[in-house]
Amino acid sequence: MSKVSIVRCPDYSDAKKAIAEAVDLVGGFEEIISMGDRVLLKPNVLAARPPEAAATTHPVVVSAMCELVLAAGGVPVVGDGAGISRPGATAKALKASGIEEAARKAGAEVVNFETAGYTKVKVPDPLQFPELYLAKPVLEADVVISLPKLKTHELTYYTGAVKNFFGTLPLNSRKEAHFLGKRDLFGEAVADIYSVIKPRFAVMDGVLGMEGNGPSHGKPINSGVVLASPNCVALDIIAAEMIGFDPLKIPTTAGALKKGFGNHCPLVVGTPLKEVKMKFKPSSGGISTAPAFLVRNFGKYFTIRPRINQEKCIRCGACHLNCSPQAVEKLADGSFRINEEKCILCYCCRELCPNDAVDMKKSLMAKVLTSEH
Ligand code: SF4
Ligand code: SF4
Repeated sequence: MSKVSIVRCPDYSDAKKAIAEAVDLVGGFEEIISMGDRVLLKPNVLAARPPEAAATTHPVVVSAMCELVLAAGGVPVVGDGAGISRPGATAKALKASGIEEAARKAGAEVVNFETAGYTKVKVPDPLQFPELYLAKPVLEADVVISLPKLKTHELTYYTGAVKNFFGTLPLNSRKEAHFLGKRDLFGEAVADIYSVIKPRFAVMDGVLGMEGNGPSHGKPINSGVVLASPNCVALDIIAAEMIGFDPLKIPTTAGALKKGFGNHCPLVVGTPLKEVKMKFKPSSGGISTAPAFLVRNFGKYFTIRPRINQEKCIRCGACHLNCSPQAVEKLADGSFRINEEKCILCYCCRELCPNDAVDMKKSLMAKVLTSEH
């Protein structure tokens, strides 16, 4: 049976001790991390918000986990891809959240999924996506650990250890998952991601949670706990129950259970669940509260497409060589152009271009929504 530990942690000055205790209570890292393993720690770096906004995993949680990984003989690597709405969002979010600085100080390498490239992978027993592009650093790690934040979510009601891996997708794949237009189908898409990554552990930052209009515009709430488990699905079941949500109605949990991950009744160790139960206000938003046809038909008009500026391009070929889906095509005259059908909107080409020759072309809806005309 999967164990989930709950340890009280009223504020972040106690977080390091609480995390060590929570990890120990469910067996520690001995069976999980071997000497020299690259251990990818995946916090929630949703947006460029400060830690007190409670939209992102707190930097103290990230640094504490880096130290524990080092102590276990592993090599900590911290990475995420923000809720990408425009190129460069992740770099800003890593800084503003304090995660980049905390991770580096604790001796970890920091990777930006937006610029590290994506690899196409096959999904075992797919529910929604037979193939997916996933961030390379996640696929290259020996061990992956989820570091979610305890928050409500407009689409999945609650966001935790399983949903956290949605950040490993490039923008186009994220859009495809949202275009499914229904919560349960979206949950199944996230379960497909989870089934490829197969994380080995999760530690949740529930010290300062977010209620109301999460995952980014809700209200911070003192929830005062740290949770840990070798099973992300089990952790999500307990965390959702703790904040007053029906765990089996969380689409990402239902999707993961459907794929055979976790079980319905994890065992709680440490602080009893009934002692820390509280009621989070749910999010009132929700993409899927809009009719599915609206999401499918209008969501596609939000695009920020890369385009090669032929006047600036020096034809070095860096974009062509590094584009994962080979969307940058070389023409007979030696110039390059981007095939929109193949482009997954990862924006790696823009980051890599030595001559700033990849422009961003926004659709009208993207101009309106990003308020930059
Ligand atoms: S063209 Fe650029 S944005 Fe599109 S997939 Fe290739 S590297 Fe990514
Ligand atoms: S990386 Fe930039 S300069 Fe080099 S070929 Fe691509 S667009 Fe042109």
